[in-house]
Amino acid sequence: MNNLTLIKNAHVFAPQDLGRQDVLFAGQQILAVGHHLDLQGDTLHVVDGSGKLLLPGLVDSLVHITGGGGEGGFHTRTPQMNLTDATLGGVTTLIGALGTDATTRTLTDLLAKAGALCTEGLSVYCYTGSYQIPARTITGNITDDIVLIDKFIGIGEVAIADHRSSQPCAKELMRLASEARIGGMLSGKAGIVSIHVGEGASRLALLEQVVRESDIPASQFYPTHINRNLDLLEAGMAWAAQGGFVDMTTSTNAQFLAEGEIPAAKALAMCLQRGVPVSQLTMSSDGNASLPLFDSQGRLIGLEVGQVASLYQAMVEAVQQYNVPLTQALTSVTLTPARILGLTGKGRIASGADADLLLVDDDTLAIDSVYAKGRQMVAEGVPLVKGTFE
Ligand code: ZN
Repeated sequence: MNNLTLIKNAHVFAPQDLGRQDVLFAGQQILAVGHHLDLQGDTLHVVDGSGKLLLPGLVDSLVHITGGGGEGGFHTRTPQMNLTDATLGGVTTLIGALGTDATTRTLTDLLAKAGALCTEGLSVYCYTGSYQIPARTITGNITDDIVLIDKFIGIGEVAIADHRSSQPCAKELMRLASEARIGGMLSGKAGIVSIHVGEGASRLALLEQVVRESDIPASQFYPTHINRNLDLLEAGMAWAAQGGFVDMTTSTNAQFLAEGEIPAAKALAMCLQRGVPVSQLTMSSDGNASLPLFDSQGRLIGLEVGQVASLYQAMVEAVQQYNVPLTQALTSVTLTPARILGLTGKGRIASGADADLLLVDDDTLAIDSVYAKGRQMVAEGVPLVKGTFE
């Protein structure tokens, strides 16, 4: 038995509150969760979890792992993600995606970067396609990409209601969704369609039309950036009432907020107060996307980069500033995205689940230790493992 680790006496949120428990894991898997798991042996590593909470590693459903942006010229293409961008922020599973640029950013590069991050310790999956329709693929076919290429679990982020989208019509989106759906069914994956929703006035009307006029269920789509403004958030709540998922983006800057973006934590709290079940609500970081700064004449004057670590920060903000119960805030960044994405071993602490775990301070929620696939990546808030070029 390799690397037996026993975390004793931590308060476990799985994400449901299990109270004080011991958690035993070996290799990449959790073996047992229970009271007083007393084991002994030379290979057993015991960790005292007293005064700490044990949480599942976060599942981030949208990260531009190879960088994004570029809308201000080649010098505005944002850099790739580093391993510790995720691990220091408690993210152990993430979904890589292209964005606006599927010309200088490619799916082959995306898969290579995902492979690199997996080797370095994370669990990484990808979306085929990009903003545009017809979708970029590797095999020439969306269904084939999802069936034949392990890391592809769906397609996205396909853009709607945005001047940068391909201005797709409902028929085009229906065909794309059905191809992703079939790919998911044949390969036992989610086949989910991640949708980038821009600032356009049509908001979610196109998705509603697709659901109304076809046999594709609302749950096939996973629209993001719904906290972009209040009108879109209202549209998102109406979409949720039809069974749709709603994803909030946690990377932001002062200008976006001044222009009407709602902090993801606040948007999450508003949706919960309005009765949207947490099983339909998620947050994602949009990590390594570009966050452009414009002057009053609309000229680009600066560029910030989305941070994967904003996901955990928003989860904490939901608890500490907006009084969302920890179980609910945590569910929106662990169990719910894992279920939507069809990742059964992720986003929960249970026997048989993957050993993706966070030990955090029970008062401040500051991250102390991070385990990804059973390997300790962070100790006392400092990285034990760094990426190849960090
Ligand atoms: Zn987007």
